[in-house]
Amino acid sequence: MKPNLEPRTLNLEPFGLYIHIPYCLSRCHYCDFNSYRIDSVQVGQYLEALGQEIACCVTPEAIRHRRVCSVFFGGGTPSILNASQLIGVLDQCRSVFTFETGAEVTLEANPGTVDIPKLLALREGGVTRLSLGVQAVQDRLLQRIGRAHTVHEAQRAFWMAREAGFSNINLDLMFGLPGQSTDDWSKTLDWAIDAGPEHISAYGLILEEGTPLYKEHRQGEIGLPDEETEAAMYRMAIDRLRDAGLEHYEISNFARQGFQCRHNLVYWQHQEYLGIGAGAHSFLAGRRFCNELLPARYVSAIAERGTAIASREDLSAEMLRSERLMLGLRLRGGLNVQTFKDLLGIEDLAVSDRVTRLLDDGFLRLQEGRVQITEHGLLVANELIVQLL
Ligand code: SF4
Repeated sequence: MKPNLEPRTLNLEPFGLYIHIPYCLSRCHYCDFNSYRIDSVQVGQYLEALGQEIACCVTPEAIRHRRVCSVFFGGGTPSILNASQLIGVLDQCRSVFTFETGAEVTLEANPGTVDIPKLLALREGGVTRLSLGVQAVQDRLLQRIGRAHTVHEAQRAFWMAREAGFSNINLDLMFGLPGQSTDDWSKTLDWAIDAGPEHISAYGLILEEGTPLYKEHRQGEIGLPDEETEAAMYRMAIDRLRDAGLEHYEISNFARQGFQCRHNLVYWQHQEYLGIGAGAHSFLAGRRFCNELLPARYVSAIAERGTAIASREDLSAEMLRSERLMLGLRLRGGLNVQTFKDLLGIEDLAVSDRVTRLLDDGFLRLQEGRVQITEHGLLVANELIVQLL
């Protein structure tokens, strides 16, 4: 399929750039991301294909005159590559796209794949933000979910990043893990708060079909915290992180003032993004594209056709409205009332039974001209968004 990035609408807004590195040291037991055990032969071919894909982005009208506001190296474990490989990809992006002044450049990193010289080289090469997968501060929990690092390595990686001069660090934490008590979670939050990162993502474990943990769960082999305990863990995170001065700005994300993740805001604010690499998605000019999922197929598609786009969808006005509503409500600031009404296609909130019920039951609230999900509603945010659609 030929890439068709010709615009359906003229848009000069900045856009986000996502680069997918699909390799990991080993596979975590809960993971259903597009990631594979690292294979050094394939990595070389993969990086070459990434370069070709980036070079092909020079011409499309949909992005030609637009600036990049954020770059996100995700995966997989991007930090599994060495610094010169990563900076090489970033430099290729810079040679093709125009970056906004102060554009955010995030690298997802796993403990055990970084040291001080590498972190220094990454920072000097233009990485501005590091997102570290810590998850928990109990080794038995990390082993239980198949993480390839220890607590000590995770804590060390954070301090090395500070030593290397990173002043914008996210820590990824997880609750609802098998065998995790509220006390374990409380200690993880204690450590994270004491460490003092600029941003924390706190995600509840999701049992994705097909993963080893999902299978174990089906066979009754894992003891997960019950729903009530998991809700208490989430509430604990909200209270403790807020008290520690981090703003709860999205369902699972907390940041010090001025450190909200620019790249994720691109998604939540329904702005446009270009995805490069195996399985990467793009949302540009009212269309969604997806690249070949498997790294080997991605590499051969780029070699044979100069593009790896495997599927393309023109989004209808209805689909765009639903997405914007769904994503906008994830943000604690919610949506402007007029935008909310336009997205639902209603002239007055009172005419919608669904909306009045959610307002009356305390799941939604009106505040300063915006519709927001309440703290009570956050516990069932996904369900209530579905009810609105
Ligand atoms: S490090 Fe991340 S991408 Fe890799 S297997 Fe674990 S959860 Fe999946």
